[in-house]
Amino acid sequence: MSYSPYFNPDMETLSRLEIEALQLKRLKDTLEHCFNGSAFYKKRLMEAGATPDKINSLDDLRRIPFTTKQDLRDTYPFGIASVPLSKCTRLHSSSGTTGNPTVILHTARDLEQWANAVARCLWMVGCRPEDVFQNTSGYGMFTGGLGFQYGAEKLGMLTVPAAAGNTLRQLKFFTDFGTTVVHAIPSYAARLYEVMCERGIDPRRDTKLKILAIGAEPHSEDTRKRIEDMLGVKAYNSFGMSEMCGPGVAFECKEQNGMHIWEDYYIVEIVDPDTLEPVPDGETGELVLTTINREAMPLLRYRTRDLTRIIPGSCPCGREHKRLDRMKGRSDDMIILKGVNIFPIQIETILMQFKELASDYLITIETRENNDAMTIDVELSDIFIDDMSALQRLEKEITRQLHDEILITPKVRFVPKGSLPKSEGKAVRVKDLRKTF
Ligand code: ADP
Ligand code: ZN
Repeated sequence: MSYSPYFNPDMETLSRLEIEALQLKRLKDTLEHCFNGSAFYKKRLMEAGATPDKINSLDDLRRIPFTTKQDLRDTYPFGIASVPLSKCTRLHSSSGTTGNPTVILHTARDLEQWANAVARCLWMVGCRPEDVFQNTSGYGMFTGGLGFQYGAEKLGMLTVPAAAGNTLRQLKFFTDFGTTVVHAIPSYAARLYEVMCERGIDPRRDTKLKILAIGAEPHSEDTRKRIEDMLGVKAYNSFGMSEMCGPGVAFECKEQNGMHIWEDYYIVEIVDPDTLEPVPDGETGELVLTTINREAMPLLRYRTRDLTRIIPGSCPCGREHKRLDRMKGRSDDMIILKGVNIFPIQIETILMQFKELASDYLITIETRENNDAMTIDVELSDIFIDDMSALQRLEKEITRQLHDEILITPKVRFVPKGSLPKSEGKAVRVKDLRKTF
């Protein structure tokens, strides 16, 4: 059967001019809605002199104050909402390990629009109603569960809501139900392969897997390639966060070169995290998003704390929605060691270039003799090295490359495959023992 390449041709084929015209209209509607519906925003906008009548171009957006995660905590649970609770049909809440959790409310329309966005992403990479979609995300408050579930249903695939964990059962579902599309976080995708190997399952021979949506945590290009090689699939980077609904915010197209952010849903800004001034397209900064297609709880200029950049130029796929580069991490993931700023993804990028290493690693930071020290435990892959001097050479080369990248010399320790702790949710990559709470 032949299908259109677009799930939503009207929105996916807009030109830049059309996107911007639609954004201005939706921004103005959103402002009116927040001003009239949310006491929090009414006060904020009045104080800043950014009442809806003052915002008449996309540039005027900069007059609106930022919204922060702290604002969500301060107004916990429902304080930013722009509609009465009786109009809301679901909430999602973050875990809130530090202070109050954050809560995001949705109306029935919001949920419908969210499902449409996820369906659009999945369709873009080739998912069709004939496919069988298996979701390995936790269901419940984590938005990767229900978010992908409703998106995949909206597209019309047969869905397998397997949920997180129980890897043997996941594998049985792959083979029994003929799963063709999987959603998994990168660390879990690697785990699936490990268990397949243990059980003598060859993904190419024994399953029909072809498409993987991977996201929710930073990963390098080499990690993607490894996962693709292991599972015999095309893996597409998927970006989302609970505050912006969840998955479906930005997704790679078949070009696999940056994630299109749906600009009929969001206005994107990249700002310098210190000065909060915009940076030019192509430069890295903090991602700031304004929702323009939400009812229950629109967020204006929300500081995501995620660091990325807009990839300049147009995408060969023809979609003119801007592309975000891989996330470098959150500003709060940054490790400051001996005055140097380091992101775990810089370390991963080096490690994953070595075929002798498996996918799991753990960075430990501690104080040794009054000095900050970094140890990286990394699992060895199945490539058998029987010669100690070869291992030493490998360690030396990895340490040298890491030093070139992060300007400090970590201690690299090889550990057997499978020996680092595994988590069901997002992987824990950094243990900072310097912190005293
Ligand atoms: P939590 O805040 O508990 O991690 P979320 O599901 O809201 O829960 O997580 C959203 C965050 O996950 C984003 O702000 C970002 O830091 C990270 N993230 C999501 N998708 C990706 C991705 N594709 N690449 C890198 N990081 C991602
Ligand atoms: Zn594209």
